[in-house]
Amino acid sequence: MNASHSGTMAPVPSGRVHNLINIGAYSVLAAAALYAARQELVVITPAQALNFTLAYAAGTFLLSPDLDLAEGRVDSKRHWGVLGALWVPYGMLFSHRGWSHSWVIGPLTRLLYVALILALIFGLLRFVAPDLQVPTIPQPISVKVVAPLLLGYYLSQWLHLIADGVRPDHGLRKGYRRVRGR
Ligand SMILES: [Zn+2]
Repeated sequence: MNASHSGTMAPVPSGRVHNLINIGAYSVLAAAALYAARQELVVITPAQALNFTLAYAAGTFLLSPDLDLAEGRVDSKRHWGVLGALWVPYGMLFSHRGWSHSWVIGPLTRLLYVALILALIFGLLRFVAPDLQVPTIPQPISVKVVAPLLLGYYLSQWLHLIADGVRPDHGLRKGYRRVRGR
C-alpha cells in the first residue's frame, strides 16, 4: 500500500460533482439575472439568455477541462457517446491538469480542437461529395451574439477550475518564478 502517494494532492472533484456545482451556480445566476431584468437593471433578450445557457451547458457537459483524461475513461467523454473516441488524441496531447486547466488558453484549446475536427469532417465530406452544401457562419458576427456564448462557455470552465483549486495564473507561474528568481 502506498499511502504517501495519494496524500500528495488535495482530492479533486469527480465529473458528477463538477456537474452539480455548475448546475447549482447556474440556478443562482439565472435567478439573479431574472431579478435584475425585472428591476430593469439589465436588458437580456431571450436569444442572449438562450445562447448563454447553451454555451454554459456545452462547457459543463461536453467540453470539460477533464477531457485531458480522454485517453482513458472519464465522465465528460462519456457524454459524447460513440463520438467520445474523437477526444482520445486530445487526452494524449494534453497532460491532466496542465495547459488544459489554464484559465484562458485551456478553454481555447478545446474550441480549436472542435473546430479542427469539424474542418476535417467537412473537408472529407467535400472530397467525397463535391456538390455538398457546407454550412457557413452568418456574416457579420455580432458581438451581441458572441458575447453571451463566450461568457457562458468561459464561466462554465472557470467554475470547474475554481472547484479544482486551480488559480488563474496556472501555466504562467513557472514564468513568474523565473522572472522573480533573476
Ligand atoms: Zn479538472
